[in-house]
Amino acid sequence: MLELTKGDTPLVFPKFENEDKMTESEICCKCSGCCRYVSVDITKPRSKDQIDLYVWYLLHKNVQIYIDNDKGWNLLFITPCTKLQGDGKCGIYPTRPKLCKDYSASSCSRTGKDHTHLFMTPDALLAYLEEEKKKKQTKSKTKVVKKTKKTK
Ligand code: SF4
Ligand code: SF4
Repeated sequence: MLELTKGDTPLVFPKFENEDKMTESEICCKCSGCCRYVSVDITKPRSKDQIDLYVWYLLHKNVQIYIDNDKGWNLLFITPCTKLQGDGKCGIYPTRPKLCKDYSASSCSRTGKDHTHLFMTPDALLAYLEEEKKKKQTKSKTKVVKKTKKTK
């Protein structure tokens, strides 16, 4: 079983041999990565109750949290779309949602890491928040020291 204690393991999308010779649609049918999850914006946890809620989310199977490159927090459900067919094609292609139409293989999650942290377990989230708290405390101590020096 996958054991993670740190929050910086990337979401994994497959790469294929000779993919430079494949068309965008061939890559998508083989990958189908973006048809296999749902992500919803959430806010950065700021209170004990909110942290508790996020821990509860992460206690559920196939639920993860990630921080994107714009520092936005997202709740991730690893669950395939019911319209995804066995051959990797969309079963409702002409009428698929706009969100699916707008998603392009040239700018999708597969081409680059679009998040900075991924939390798969409550422990990973709590370890990250603890680390952030320590960093903040060190920063504010440094500021106080600098201010004290200035006033002398
Ligand atoms: S858009 Fe990107 S993530 Fe989605 S199926 Fe195509 S290659 Fe995979
Ligand atoms: S509707 Fe089609 S393109 Fe959109 S997520 Fe489902 S299978 Fe993928």
